[in-house]
Amino acid sequence: MNAFIAENLAQVRAHIQAACQTAGRDPASVSLLAVSKTWGPEAVRQAHAAGQRAFGENYIQEGVDKILALKDLPLQWHCIGPIQSNKTRLVAEHFDWVHSLDRLKIAQRLSEQRPENLPALQVCIQVNVDGGSTKSGVSPHELPALAQAVAALPRLQLRGLMTIPEPAETPELMRAVHRQAKALLDALNQQGMALDTLSMGMSADLDAAIAEGSTMVRVGTAIFGKR
Ligand SMILES: *Cc1c(COP(=O)(O)O)cnc(C)c1O
Repeated sequence: MNAFIAENLAQVRAHIQAACQTAGRDPASVSLLAVSKTWGPEAVRQAHAAGQRAFGENYIQEGVDKILALKDLPLQWHCIGPIQSNKTRLVAEHFDWVHSLDRLKIAQRLSEQRPENLPALQVCIQVNVDGGSTKSGVSPHELPALAQAVAALPRLQLRGLMTIPEPAETPELMRAVHRQAKALLDALNQQGMALDTLSMGMSADLDAAIAEGSTMVRVGTAIFGKR
C-alpha cells in the first residue's frame, strides 16, 4: 500500500488547521472534502484508511461506479459537477450531497427521484459570485428565489452555498470574492433560513476561503496527486 495519500492528507489537514488558527477559527468548523475524480476505488480506500470519510465526484457515472465498488465502507459522497436532466436519477439514488445545484428543474427532479428509504439529499446552491459569463452557478441576483424554491422541496435539505471563483490577481481580491459568498449566505439566514454550509476553497485559495468563512474545502490534487 502506498503511504503517500496518508501523508498528503496529513499535510492538507495541517494546512487547514494553520489557516483556521490564522483566521481565529475553530478547526472543527472546516471540513475537508477529498475530491477523488479520475482516481479509482483503491485510492479512495487508502484515503479512508487514513481517516477520510467525505469524497467529491464531478462526473456522475464515474462517481456512481465508485460508490457501488466501495459499498462496504461508510463513506459520504458529494456530487460537485454539472448535472444534466438525464443524470438526476443516478444522483438521487446514490449520492448523499449535491453542491452544484443551479436550476430549479434539476432540484425538482432530484427531490422526486430521491428514494424514500434514504435521508433527504443534502444540497448547496452553486453561486457564480465573480460573474464569469460562461460558468455554471446562479447569479447572486437569482439566488434568493431559487433558494426559497429549493428549500420547499420535500426530499431535499438546503444546506448552503458553493462557489468556484476564478483565481484572482491578488490575495485581497480573492478574499473579496469569498467575502461576497459569505455575505450571500448570511443574507439568506437573515431572511429566516438556517444554512450552515459554505463549500468554498480549493488548493489554490484555501487560506483566503477559510479566512472568509468557508465551512468545507474541496481538495483533490494535493491529496491524490496530479490527474
Ligand atoms: C476538481 C475540483 C476540485 C479539486 O481541485 P484540485 O485542483 O484537484 O484540488 C474542487 N472543486 C471542484 C468543483 C472540482 O471540480
